[in-house]
Amino acid sequence: MHFRCKGPECGDCCSGKRGPGAVWVTLAEMERLAGVMKLTLDQFTKRYVRRMGEGFSLIERANYDCIFYVPDKGCAVYDARPTQCRTYPFWGRIVVSRENWEREALQCPGINADETLVSATEVRLQLDIDEKRNTP
Ligand code: SF4
Repeated sequence: MHFRCKGPECGDCCSGKRGPGAVWVTLAEMERLAGVMKLTLDQFTKRYVRRMGEGFSLIERANYDCIFYVPDKGCAVYDARPTQCRTYPFWGRIVVSRENWEREALQCPGINADETLVSATEVRLQLDIDEKRNTP
């Protein structure tokens, strides 16, 4: 599969271009983010997390940008970003079929953009990590 993220100058998956969404976070991810920001877990969740159904998601700005997305700069918490962000676009529902992969490519310029081949082993690894993240 061919993929290479276009980086901060893109940000299409973090900004509100696609409309509202969810960035699911586990307790461990919230603790990691809180630690990086030198906040208690309570302070962090009150400021940056919302309950969505069975899970927890980072909040969005009014324009649906992820709360940590900085236009033209990218993710403000990149090194501590949630698993969902690390494993994209190698999510089960995207790689399950060529049709889904090609549909996702219409929204992510990094998919199929060049000859950067991601090996089957790496794709499987990312899928495995994503499946274990234990969020909705
Ligand atoms: S939409 Fe794709 S290319 Fe753009 S920032 Fe997200 S992963 Fe990278």
